[in-house]
Amino acid sequence: MSADSPRKPNWGRYADLRPIEIEGILASSPIAYVPWGALEWHSQHAPIGLDSTKAEGICLALAEKTGGVVLPPIPFGVNTIKPFKGFPHSIDISAELATRACQELCLQLADEKFRLVIIFTGHYPPQQIDALQAGVDQAQKEISSSRFLVWADSQLLDKKYRADHAGATETSFQMYFAHGSVDLDALPDRLLSLDEDGIMGEDPREASASRGKAQLNSIIAAAVPQIQFILAEMEAEV
Ligand SMILES: [Zn+2]
Repeated sequence: MSADSPRKPNWGRYADLRPIEIEGILASSPIAYVPWGALEWHSQHAPIGLDSTKAEGICLALAEKTGGVVLPPIPFGVNTIKPFKGFPHSIDISAELATRACQELCLQLADEKFRLVIIFTGHYPPQQIDALQAGVDQAQKEISSSRFLVWADSQLLDKKYRADHAGATETSFQMYFAHGSVDLDALPDRLLSLDEDGIMGEDPREASASRGKAQLNSIIAAAVPQIQFILAEMEAEV
């Protein structure tokens, strides 16, 4: 198939879609996923954009199941490990800016006829969740014809995996979504800690791409029925 052949996808990356394709998706699955990440220290072994890569990978997998579009990841992390512990290369964003950006994105996506907007954050300290929830709440006050939600992978993950920061769970996601981007040999040969290494949770040396895939499957299993339920509820309201 040449690049110019007609495509009728029911999901895709918003930035890569042509108008007729967006219109087709809107007619069948008016869902917009907004992966929300951060640029934040994830220790020596993992990239700074882990939370964005993770959120985008999960959103693409969900969109493939439910239909809809996936926006480019927003790298606005509130309360990163920089103010907390001083680790470098992190870009810390104010709660006010994250709230405002979230609110405006919700309103714009509703204006573009998306009826369900899921802000999916891969960075999940309470300050981040609260900032995004405030943006969603403000948008919902202005628009009632679309639904706006904030979800975090930590809330949907099977309980047998521990939500962490740069630990085995997040590192497994990174290995699965971006092969070759993790260097476990960059970690020091000793017990790892929050204070010295900026790692919370299980040792990242326990991570694997296959575990990342299993974690993703647990999120899909938890999220897809919820999304289908919300869509059915919205359909009944019309
Ligand atoms: Zn993270």
